[in-house]
Amino acid sequence: MNRIQTIAGLRENPNVDVLVIGGGINGISVFRELALQGVDVLLAEKGDYCSGASAALSRMVHGGLRYLENGEFKLVRESLLERDRLLKNAPHYVAPLPTTVPIFDLFSGMANGAVRFLGLSRRPGRRGALVIKTGLAMYDFFTAARRVVPTHKFRSRAETLKVWPAINPAIRNSATYYDAWVSHPERLGTEMLRDTMKEKPSARALNYARVSLNDASLVLNDGLSGETIDVKPRLVVNATGGWIDLTNSAIGAVAPKLMGGTKGSHLIVDNRELHDALDGHMIYYENEDGRICILFPYLGNVLVGSTDIRVDDPDQARCMDDERQYILQSLSFVFPGIEIADSDIVFQFTGVRPLPISQDSFTGRIPRDHFCELVEGAGMLPPTLCMIGGKWTTFRSFGELAADLVL
Ligand SMILES: Cc1cc2nc3c(=O)[nH]c(=O)nc-3n(C[C@H](O)[C@H](O)[C@H](O)COP(=O)(O)OP(=O)(O)OC[C@H]3O[C@@H](n4cnc5c(N)ncnc54)[C@H](O)[C@@H]3O)c2cc1C
Repeated sequence: MNRIQTIAGLRENPNVDVLVIGGGINGISVFRELALQGVDVLLAEKGDYCSGASAALSRMVHGGLRYLENGEFKLVRESLLERDRLLKNAPHYVAPLPTTVPIFDLFSGMANGAVRFLGLSRRPGRRGALVIKTGLAMYDFFTAARRVVPTHKFRSRAETLKVWPAINPAIRNSATYYDAWVSHPERLGTEMLRDTMKEKPSARALNYARVSLNDASLVLNDGLSGETIDVKPRLVVNATGGWIDLTNSAIGAVAPKLMGGTKGSHLIVDNRELHDALDGHMIYYENEDGRICILFPYLGNVLVGSTDIRVDDPDQARCMDDERQYILQSLSFVFPGIEIADSDIVFQFTGVRPLPISQDSFTGRIPRDHFCELVEGAGMLPPTLCMIGGKWTTFRSFGELAADLVL
């Protein structure tokens, strides 16, 4: 159904079983699950599909090695399963990624890791060889029954410097393991949307359609014509990620604050020396403050990131000068001899991680798992199922979880 037909149909009959608000990867995922179950579902996105966090990720399709030290074993296991499914089902966008961790110490991070695991400290710190070895052994164990990518391996200092001569010479050794990366996350989202509408022509989706309240009823604000269109769902799914609280208050959902989003920025660097120094690997390293940063060859350039800063309004999130400096400083730590000029930065982008509200002073420690919360609508408004948290990697399982609850 095209845009004109969808709007005309809603003008004739505004009733719909489920309205999914938010056309990021999670909104598209639950839309797909519901449509394929034969549910009368409408998706509304205020901008372009996958233009929020779903376009701003680090492009890792991963289990989340560092979530192990937060004790998020279930999430890592689930993410690895979804990673392997994506490698199988979407090989045109998702490919294996050799990932190398430079290691500067043997023991460091062990006591820190244990203390963090027991909840006695939240402070990030450097991880040494033994901590990394433990994490990678668990990674391999979780995927032992289906070996889609190779297991990890360690390299001595000499072997590491042979492969990556430009890496910080203070290195002690390195570990290489495999995760995956997605080249065009937005395209995979729009492909799923199109496939769904082809399979179930009754399923409807509109972009440039912001949902809000008008005289105590829900309306779509058509960003192209400026008109409003009434919509009367029996249930709303709020899949607006970092915008969840703003959306809840815009649609009259009676909900506490759910979101504690953090913005993350990345740079795209066009520098041959840096590109070649990576030897086709992602370098997954800790900056001097203990935060994980990544860099990897991305479509001929190098993608470097990211930052992790609390924000309230995703529409205001931008990559600021201090973030560029932070990222460049982290790069100079891992490849000290490679100069990056300002003119080498050909693009920058920012997105807001849809993290659950948390008092944790270290943003890296906020749980990365996903869950749903059902809240009432004010007056005669329908209830809203809020999708909270989630990674791009786990969009399918999160969509399935939300669809099960809707059904
Ligand atoms: C810096 C960064 C790095 C990340 N790296 C990774 C990674 O490497 N691997 C990984 O697996 N995950 C990663 N993530 C997490 C991942 O990107 C997100 O978890 C995922 O994309 C969230 O998708 P979503 O659909 O919930 O939210 P979004 O993609 O943000 O979608 C929400 C949508 O709701 C729309 N919306 C808001 N209000 C309204 C309204 N009133 N009406 C209609 N529409 C509305 C917005 O326009 C937006 O498109 C990263 C995230 C960030 C920010």
